[in-house]
Amino acid sequence: MTILNNKEKTVPFFDYKFILGQYKEEITKIILDISSRGAFIMQDEVKKFEKNLSSFLGVQHSLGVGNCTDGLLLAIKAAGIGPGDEVIFSSHTFVATASAIYHSGAKPVPVECGSDHLIDVKSMEAAITSKTKAIIPTQLNGQVCDMEDIIKLCNKYGLILIEDAAQSLGAKYKDKSAGTFGVASAYSFYPAKVVGCFGDGGAVVTNDDDIYNKVFLTRDHGRAKIGEVVTWGMNSRLDNLQAAILDFKLSKYNLDIDRRREIASIYEGGLKDVKELILPPAPNANPDKFEIYQNYEVEVVVASDRDGIRTYLSSNGIGTIMQWGGKAVHEFEGLGLNYSLPFTEDLMRRCFLLPMNTSLSNDDINYIINTIRKYYNYGI
Ligand SMILES: *Cc1c(COP(=O)(O)O)cnc(C)c1O
Repeated sequence: MTILNNKEKTVPFFDYKFILGQYKEEITKIILDISSRGAFIMQDEVKKFEKNLSSFLGVQHSLGVGNCTDGLLLAIKAAGIGPGDEVIFSSHTFVATASAIYHSGAKPVPVECGSDHLIDVKSMEAAITSKTKAIIPTQLNGQVCDMEDIIKLCNKYGLILIEDAAQSLGAKYKDKSAGTFGVASAYSFYPAKVVGCFGDGGAVVTNDDDIYNKVFLTRDHGRAKIGEVVTWGMNSRLDNLQAAILDFKLSKYNLDIDRRREIASIYEGGLKDVKELILPPAPNANPDKFEIYQNYEVEVVVASDRDGIRTYLSSNGIGTIMQWGGKAVHEFEGLGLNYSLPFTEDLMRRCFLLPMNTSLSNDDINYIINTIRKYYNYGI
């Protein structure tokens, strides 16, 4: 890393080493315990984590899987979606949402997001055809979509609802957890996610016994409890070691949520008068929603300004990123999705992420705020 003279401090966008540092003793103990028992695959820790995840979310069933992308695919297939079907998703999402649809054999149909960066209900309705079978909204950035409107739409057209809840573990809409509104949903425990494991990991959750039974089989080669292969499956198991670490981290997660919401409040307080930036909703701005701030995604008002502010922050030691490398899913030419989504395209030219994670101190956040204020010539 180049050291510049004007840096007061360095605030990386995300510090992957922090994941061990914070709970080094506890996690070392877990790793030693699991490995000395040789309990690596489909052991009690997976079941224990699934049980605790279900009660954390208020849902009937949880299933540990290899990652969220697999989880979405397994849920989509278990819901009976496949070739000949169209599935609607918001193009402002990780490619995983669309690739899970694609690999089920269904056609991914991207639509616009709204000013809240979440799937736009009007665009969804406009995209519905006789082939539309399901919609998969992404609960993006630790926010929750207006689920009542989405459920109304699903009921009106008889569509299946599956949520990509990779970024919103513990977020709520009217006291109900993101990821528990449809027939199934999937979460990600990728290291940089709110609850991150030491590699890849994911979960499918559902209140539907049939979907539970199907995913239970398909994540492990279609094998029934006794080992008999009863259907075509694949290998997408959550490692027992990851499950044990995740179970521990889930037990501390409410503290992390409080801290993330606190950081969002500090950003809001320090930046709300900066007219050149549009901030995400502040905690409690909408009493129906409880946000967990996986990300803090801001917009510059003028697209040509984004490079300037990001470069200035970088030269002051502050890391920022553009989600998905700065492109919505339909903009990746290699995927062959030929759609024009002007609102999303404009937003993708204007948004980027400020650091948002529990390794940040208040000093770090205030340094970021003051650096932004300096760039736009606001007082400190
Ligand atoms: C991270 C992420 C995924 C994929 O999660 P993996 O566990 O890496 O497969 C899917 N959707 C969204 C919105 C994500 O942010």
